[in-house]
Amino acid sequence: MSDHYLTRSPVTGQEYVPMRAPRFAEIPTFMRAPLAESLEGLDIAMVGVPFDGGVSNRTGARHGPREIRNMSSLMRPIHHVSRVNPYELCTVADVGDVHFSTLYEAAKAVGDIETFFGKLHEAGVAPLSAGGDHAITYPIFRAIARERPVGMVHIDAHTDTWDEYFGAKFHHGSPFRLATEEGLLDPKRTIQIGIRGAQLSTEPWDYSLEKGMRVVFMDEFARAGVDAIVEEARTVVGGGPTYISFDVDGLDPVYAPGTGTPEVGGLTTLEAQTLLRGLRGLDIVGGDVVEVAPPFDPSGNTALVGATMMYEILCLMAEAVVARKSA
Ligand code: MN
Ligand code: MN
Repeated sequence: MSDHYLTRSPVTGQEYVPMRAPRFAEIPTFMRAPLAESLEGLDIAMVGVPFDGGVSNRTGARHGPREIRNMSSLMRPIHHVSRVNPYELCTVADVGDVHFSTLYEAAKAVGDIETFFGKLHEAGVAPLSAGGDHAITYPIFRAIARERPVGMVHIDAHTDTWDEYFGAKFHHGSPFRLATEEGLLDPKRTIQIGIRGAQLSTEPWDYSLEKGMRVVFMDEFARAGVDAIVEEARTVVGGGPTYISFDVDGLDPVYAPGTGTPEVGGLTTLEAQTLLRGLRGLDIVGGDVVEVAPPFDPSGNTALVGATMMYEILCLMAEAVVARKSA
């Protein structure tokens, strides 16, 4: 492992790799990666976005980044299926959390998130984020999709293509409608997987379909099986820049109860891992895991699931970094 991953104890002067320390020890950065002091030479930044001002029901996702950091101490570097070690393929660090100028004005939060991710984007650093609620993905797209729209593999119980809700356009049910309307997301290169749950109106589902998104409702996923959906996801997003957005409520609440808007009858954790592993070789330019709400997660398992899915996405992003550098 490169010197980048070394930390020096200010007490003993001893150098060590926190990722190799006992997992209950040390300050819990994401995956025990170094806390970055600058963006220089960095390929992938792990970011916390502790914002849940867009939640429509049970709040708490603002606590997600800290608990995911804590549970991510259980992650180790080498992937057991692909044997990928993302930290050897590229340079990875925790860059801390987005700073908010105010906690109480959603419109300003959009600007704060966009500004933060804009700086990463300008420095050529690919972001892997922990939310926060799903509203955060819209300002992330405003930063990373400035030059061209991105495609997306989206795992969620909800399409998040809702219109206004209680007088607001910015909330956790609308990021992909806003992103589509602003030309940041290419709906024809978007697949939404795990959609389910009764609704007041079919309008959001219809919006996704009318814009050309591939919407895989959960009953179809269960019948077709994960391998068939992987193949279809690869075809839909193709070779262009692609973002992975993982809402933990896409999983069955048996696996991820700690979330604001759970819907029973969802993906298993293994199906989700298999799905993500099937996306190797795509041009993954960023990703997030959102809607982990620790107040509803007494065992910490949802945060562990969130950390594990972040690690899966990190491995995909690291291989994509290598591919882009050699292209
Ligand atoms: Mn969502
Ligand atoms: Mn959802």
